[in-house]
Amino acid sequence: MDLRSKIRDIKDFPKEGIIFKDITTLLKDGDAFKCAVDKIIQDLKEKDVDIIVGPEARGFLMGTPVAYGLGVGFVPVRKPGKLPGETVKFEYDLEYGTDSLEIHKDSIKPGQRVAIVDDLLATGGTMGATAKLIEKLGGKVVAMEFLIELEFLNGRENLKDYYVNSLIKY
Ligand code: 5GP
Repeated sequence: MDLRSKIRDIKDFPKEGIIFKDITTLLKDGDAFKCAVDKIIQDLKEKDVDIIVGPEARGFLMGTPVAYGLGVGFVPVRKPGKLPGETVKFEYDLEYGTDSLEIHKDSIKPGQRVAIVDDLLATGGTMGATAKLIEKLGGKVVAMEFLIELEFLNGRENLKDYYVNSLIKY
């Protein structure tokens, strides 16, 4: 299955000059979606994963079917103010200003083996912050899985302490 051919480029989204990798064209293709999810599940099979974490919002789309396939639970990481229970927060730097992400305090137990799944690796900021949240709760990040990696942004460099896998590289 040529997964790359299922990704659509959208010019000037969300801002002028950015070429956005649109994954909705892959998601709506049943064979391609299944193939992508199965490949991530396969890569995680030997990693003894206890739980999958997915960052808002496309990490939910890729992460939940992976969790289901492995027969483990799913934990969401969200923008501030979205999760109803008690949360912990991690703030991280952007090019201009900061952003933050939250996770439910009781979502991961110390020592649990966690894999994070997201749609795309750009600078690695989102994935790095998600890993920090998991580590704050005592979880061990055993893998980071992406559908797409934008290699020219060197996000992998910012995640060099972790195992990183991606299915489609640009
Ligand atoms: P990073 O934090 O690695 O710089 O950016 C990755 C995050 O931004 C991911 O959560 C991803 O969903 C989103 N993102 C950034 N650029 C794109 C893109 O071109 N396509 C998609 N689908 N997501 C993107």
